[in-house]
Amino acid sequence: MDQTQTINFGAGPAKIPQSVLLKAQQEFLNFSTSGISVLEMSHRASDFIQIINRTESVLRELLNIPANYKVLFLQGGGSGQFSAIPLNLIGLKKDMCADYVVTGTWSEKAAKEAEKYGKINIVHPKMDSYTKIPDPSSWTLNPAASYVYYCNNETIHGVEFNFIPETNSVVLVCDMSSNFLSRPIDVSKFGLIYAGAQKNVGCAGVTVVIVREDLLGHTLKECPIILDYKTQAELNSMYNTPPCYSIYIMGLVLEWIKSNGGGAAMESLNQQKSLLIYDVINSSNGFYVCPVEETCRSRMNIPFRIRSKEGDATLEKEFLEGASKKGMISLKGHRSVGGIRASLYNAVTLQDTEALATYMKEFLRQHQ
Ligand code: PLP
Repeated sequence: MDQTQTINFGAGPAKIPQSVLLKAQQEFLNFSTSGISVLEMSHRASDFIQIINRTESVLRELLNIPANYKVLFLQGGGSGQFSAIPLNLIGLKKDMCADYVVTGTWSEKAAKEAEKYGKINIVHPKMDSYTKIPDPSSWTLNPAASYVYYCNNETIHGVEFNFIPETNSVVLVCDMSSNFLSRPIDVSKFGLIYAGAQKNVGCAGVTVVIVREDLLGHTLKECPIILDYKTQAELNSMYNTPPCYSIYIMGLVLEWIKSNGGGAAMESLNQQKSLLIYDVINSSNGFYVCPVEETCRSRMNIPFRIRSKEGDATLEKEFLEGASKKGMISLKGHRSVGGIRASLYNAVTLQDTEALATYMKEFLRQHQ
């Protein structure tokens, strides 16, 4: 099948805007006047220093990042940050403890990893299923905690915060891997924000960390040096060889976001796109079932089943095969939950989403 006809609804690595891929292709063999590919370039070369500096400056502009925040480009993925966060921040206060809000697989994994380094308090009763955000008025936050951690968008379960939790001045830490730059955000409300690039801002290999300067320097002595924020901040993310090509691609995607209207434009587009799919689900008389409570349904990852919460395996298989024949790929739900999941990151267009909505309506007509 012609590549341009394929629509990638994958959860990550995910669709990258076509114009970005074309630019990368154009520059692949000879970046600027260097005569070589970015893949071959020394991270100390002036061309690469320009790439990384430009990437940081566009990111600062898009998110209006205050001057007292450092921007780091690290390796190890989101999972690396599950360890790096407690290693760097749990020592902020003498009790060596942290509060976690657990609303899905990713925050659950982060909390479990953090338990290696300090005392972790899950601020709400354990949930039977990840289909909602427990009412913040019922959370028991510990004022002695070094930080409060949450995941802004649970990629597998499709649960997204549409508010910033109030922590009574305790440092707030947020995993924004799957909704980074999908809408504007007030960075000053956070101590630390991180996001793997491979969903909304590029390809796998680089994780961006935005951290307030006064939080640096409290690292546990056993912290591996490449995860030490202070060291990486002092060396412009170049303690060791950074993921050069992934940073370059991120830079191109950020330029694309900027030229397409920035966070506010992404937000309005993402709202429109997700509404298209939720409308089909909500008006299907229970044929399509999204288990997530309406108030916290994700605009990025929409999980749904067919006929019931448990799903109808035969129909779901048929749905996925039919979608694939129409060029719509990677709609299978995460292997841990099954079903169907449509990921509608920034690069997925309104037209792509309309194609999916049309197919869903067609499939409904044929099977209800
Ligand atoms: N956090 C979220 C919200 C994710 O969706 C993922 C992966 O999909 C991760 C963390 C882990 O990222 P990685 O696979 O890069 O370690």
